[in-house]
Amino acid sequence: MPEVNGRWVADMKSARQADNEEPAEERAHDFRPVDRGFTKEMAIAEAQRCLRCKKPLCVEGCPVNIDIPGFIEKIAEEKFGEGLDVIHEASMLPAICGRVCPQETQCEGVCIRGKKGQPVAIGQLERFLGDQPELASQPQMSPSSGKRVAVIGSGPSGITCAGELARNGFDVTVFEAFFTGGGVLVYGIPEFRLPKAVVKREIDGLREMGVKFEYNAVMGNLADAEELLGEKGFDAIYVATGAGLPKFLNIPGENLPNVFFANEYLTRVNLMKANQFPEYDTPTKRAKTVVVFGGGNVAMDAVRTAKRLGAERAIIAYRRTEDEMPARKAELHHAKAESVEVMPLVSPLEFLKGEDGNVCGVRVQRMELGEPDASGRRRPVPIEDAIEEIPCDVAISAIGTNANPFAKKIGGMELNKWGYIIADEETGRTSNPRIWAGGDIVTGAATVILAMGAGKKAAADMTRVLLGA
Ligand code: FAD
Ligand code: SF4
Repeated sequence: MPEVNGRWVADMKSARQADNEEPAEERAHDFRPVDRGFTKEMAIAEAQRCLRCKKPLCVEGCPVNIDIPGFIEKIAEEKFGEGLDVIHEASMLPAICGRVCPQETQCEGVCIRGKKGQPVAIGQLERFLGDQPELASQPQMSPSSGKRVAVIGSGPSGITCAGELARNGFDVTVFEAFFTGGGVLVYGIPEFRLPKAVVKREIDGLREMGVKFEYNAVMGNLADAEELLGEKGFDAIYVATGAGLPKFLNIPGENLPNVFFANEYLTRVNLMKANQFPEYDTPTKRAKTVVVFGGGNVAMDAVRTAKRLGAERAIIAYRRTEDEMPARKAELHHAKAESVEVMPLVSPLEFLKGEDGNVCGVRVQRMELGEPDASGRRRPVPIEDAIEEIPCDVAISAIGTNANPFAKKIGGMELNKWGYIIADEETGRTSNPRIWAGGDIVTGAATVILAMGAGKKAAADMTRVLLGA
């Protein structure tokens, strides 16, 4: 490694390390992780590409402002535990964020090396360290404050908040509606992108820090805010119930058997292990042709899952073109490599019923792109009389989600007209001085890192308010 005055200098010649992926034709038939991650040698070589910019744009590009050059330098010096400690100052979930963050539009999107070539593979380096949690220093735990906090929801926002609070000396209980923790990280994002063991490791770490988890606990039914803050004896609540309520297409045939919402389809496979039926109780339809409507990460996860369940044709049908798809480019690239078909410029009109009563096809409207809409993307406009039928035996709708309706049942806070909690962006404070909120239930469907950042900010504010710190 070239050095000047005892410090290494960036290797300007080497190209970005290629992703270490399983071959597409093999991985498309099972749920093994697509990306094996960097080896030690790859990580060190990649770290040496970093310029250690004086004003690192990548840090600003990261929603939780990780000291990116700081941890990369530690990798280049092979001080991996120290590198992990640098990340932990800002983020407790590097193994997760390194895998699922949209780095290309965040830290890597502004990396100086990307201006004239390929940006440093920041996400891969973060994951490399995150996958070696045993190297990190033990977190400093504050003495018990005697205060109790209820966290509702165990997605990335809830678990981040819980971890920060536990470290600050709070007695924390996480209430989760499902029988296991992790939120979308376990029920939505498939094993081939984010192994469940990685999420379990984070939850186990929280337990070791003293956080209690109560599963199958649907708050709003089991207890509302008033009871939690009253007879249950909690001093404060953090609400992070997410935005998992599916949006309807509102077209005929949406209730036909084998027409699914993406979240339901994914939950069946990811959480209920429908891919291992009858070993596990929950079945799902193994179809020959699957059409998924949508163009985001959820649609990509659904179509790639369908492929792995044996679909001969797995189709993404989107009303705009590939260029406008909100999914990460890497996910689209992976899907296409796995023989997923992309059908641009179509919009569903009706799900068709077969002789056996199940869905047998979708009638779609062909579209073209018109003028840009409020989002800046060109608006899809129907082409007159261009209506077609796509035969299929499973159809999946992945056109977005709404606020989790339980926020209203939990009560005690002001909601906006769409049912999202009104909370301060910087502190997570709601209209109730004893309730904080964050993640998708405040912002609408967003990203893991933003949900996590909200949990962290709220924990800091709760600590200030509850302890006068
Ligand atoms: P969630 O993760 O939704 O967690 C909320 C939790 O609250 C759930 O476990 C739920 O069961 C629980 N809950 C709800 N109501 C109650 C109640 N009344 N009582 C108790 N518990 C309750 N983001 C990325 O950054 N990268 C990606 O690649 C990506 N891919 C995605 C793929 C899919 C399929 C989906 C659905 C989302 C994806 N996202 C991705 C978005 C990201 O996962 C979310 O933005 C993030 O999980 C939001 O975190 P959260 O903690 O706010 O909510
Ligand atoms: Fe390194 Fe790129 Fe960040 Fe500069 S912008 S410090 S080159 S990762």
